[in-house]
Amino acid sequence: MPIINRIAEFHDDMTAWRRDLHRHPETAFEERRTAEFVAEKLAGWGLEVHRGLAKTGVVGTLHGHEINGGGNGSRAIGLRADMDALHIHELNDFGHRSTEDGKMHACGHDGHTAMLLGAARYLAETRNFAGTVHFIFQPAEENEGGGRVMVEEGLFEKFPVESVYGLHNIPGMAAGRAGLRVGSAMASFDIFEITVTGDGAHAAMPHLGNDPIVVAAQIVGAVQTIASRRIDPLESIVVSITQFHAGDTWNVIPHQAVLRGTARCFKAELRDRIESEIEKIAGGICAAHGATLEYRYERRYPALINSERETGIAAGVAAEVLGADNVQLGAPPLMGSEDFAYLLEERPGCYIWLGNGAGGGPGGCSVHNPHYDFNDEISVLGASYWARLVETTLPRGG
Ligand SMILES: [Zn+2]
Ligand SMILES: [Zn+2]
Repeated sequence: MPIINRIAEFHDDMTAWRRDLHRHPETAFEERRTAEFVAEKLAGWGLEVHRGLAKTGVVGTLHGHEINGGGNGSRAIGLRADMDALHIHELNDFGHRSTEDGKMHACGHDGHTAMLLGAARYLAETRNFAGTVHFIFQPAEENEGGGRVMVEEGLFEKFPVESVYGLHNIPGMAAGRAGLRVGSAMASFDIFEITVTGDGAHAAMPHLGNDPIVVAAQIVGAVQTIASRRIDPLESIVVSITQFHAGDTWNVIPHQAVLRGTARCFKAELRDRIESEIEKIAGGICAAHGATLEYRYERRYPALINSERETGIAAGVAAEVLGADNVQLGAPPLMGSEDFAYLLEERPGCYIWLGNGAGGGPGGCSVHNPHYDFNDEISVLGASYWARLVETTLPRGG
């Protein structure tokens, strides 16, 4: 069975919902209109609707058919879509462009929301499964970790599930194709700040001070050796210095320099290594020059790890909907990050990439670009994938 015909019948509705959401983008924890939109639809189709988790989060609960009159089974799974937009000024000029200046759905979360709504509508109509599905509409995926907040506020205590699934569109991959992998799929995301304090002086008399710029410059070079000389070359890590702040004028050596950056990797133990290696290098260089170091390393999103069993299930369902040739099991991991990782720390599950369109064509513009748009042609595929995932994972009589 490729796509689900009943879902194809309301493709136009999904497109209309998606474009409505695109016109009204809302950023982290302010997704009030979006949450209202989602909640109203879910309630209209007869789902139990729960509001307020992580401020604007919405969870819709749907029970399947009864099994032989003995309840509908105790098994449950979670499906998650993100709802938030980005602080980007949209440069598209089509009819559904953003009406909120400086905000834009440039990551396709409008499409993710519409596809999960499409699946909810179909499953509410058919209920051809045994057990319970929790449709998790999450706020603040970008930067703010709405997924972490939902978990901290008791997502899985309030809505117990045996597994949880996520999906993201991916420009550059043809529409109709999908990719996924067992294990590490997206990197952890951490930030760090290095403050070097020396001693200010007249620029013509540097020997009377202690130049923090020279010290910080050596730190910038030396931290490159973490990836190239300290960590096994078969591991993937990134340590990038992205800010270097020091000085205000031509003839003054400042007393302080501040470096900031980000670290990405796929393993918890490597995060610990990177954190301590930066401190060791920066501390050693500061000590060698008589400067002092202040160091802050902050863990943001963990690496996203797909469990083996659930990834197998997801791959099978994707192959059924898209055709086996169109599903790449073992797709390469991405160094980007995703807060669905917090949900996967709590429950087994799988996060799949659904092609949004190849480069140059519709849907091929990269996410976070002011010209990006979600490709409505893939929404039937995404919603069919969700629906079949439920029917496969929670089979009647199973
Ligand atoms: Zn994004
Ligand atoms: Zn995204």
